[in-house]
Amino acid sequence: MSDTGEDRRPARPGRRNVVRGIGLAAGGLLAAGAGFATEQAWRRDDPPTPASAASVDSWQPPDRQVDVVWSVDTRRRLVALTFDDGPMAKWTPQALDALDEAKVPATFFMVGSRLVRNARLVEGRLGRHEIGNHTWKHDDLSKLSLAHAYRSIHRTHEAIQQVTGRTPRLLRPPWGRLGGTTLHVAAQHGYDIALWSLLVQDLRLGREPSEMVSAVVDNARPGTIVLAHDVGAPSREAAIERLPAMIRGLRGRGFDFVTVSQLRRAAL
Ligand SMILES: [Zn+2]
Repeated sequence: MSDTGEDRRPARPGRRNVVRGIGLAAGGLLAAGAGFATEQAWRRDDPPTPASAASVDSWQPPDRQVDVVWSVDTRRRLVALTFDDGPMAKWTPQALDALDEAKVPATFFMVGSRLVRNARLVEGRLGRHEIGNHTWKHDDLSKLSLAHAYRSIHRTHEAIQQVTGRTPRLLRPPWGRLGGTTLHVAAQHGYDIALWSLLVQDLRLGREPSEMVSAVVDNARPGTIVLAHDVGAPSREAAIERLPAMIRGLRGRGFDFVTVSQLRRAAL
């Protein structure tokens, strides 16, 4: 399981920050827009990769669309803080302490195997927070077969239900890497995909801690989804330590905090 350097590349939102039903309509577009000859060439030149190697015979389109969300269009000054890769000793409790102190809800995208191992760290502490699925072992879903992606996501889904008593509704693929299989499994579990629009940089870039805080505070917009980590290299600890300063700064700009699902309900 590697966390070092993960999630360092922020997703780059395009003009639209939500892609509805991504991937699920691709076959139809191809057939309708590109023509038969092109489609045949595509099939010949691009044989199934492991991520799309589900048997053609067994392929059934899911019965539900999947949204991919980087941020939310809203006029309300709301932001969603998110924390990936926990729960882990020290970091996760420290983040929870800071959030409790400020009465700020957040969304934790948890790694299933860690949640099972470290359940006691979060038991009874998740009241105001949302929990999302971040795969079983921080897996690169873009490289997994349908069966493997299903196992990784489903085991984590069950672990979250077991430990927290809640059914997660959001999946965040590690590193933001998506395969078609991911979308398929997400649809099967009733998930939408939550990416991010603002990354809390760590100090490896040689920044001063105050710059790290102001980079978040100054760049937040209504509907921003902020990505931080409650696990990782020691340099990332600085972000958790400065969480109270970030919260103060964002409040100073008139922002209020919500979970990702609450933010989506505030969409225009
Ligand atoms: Zn991660």
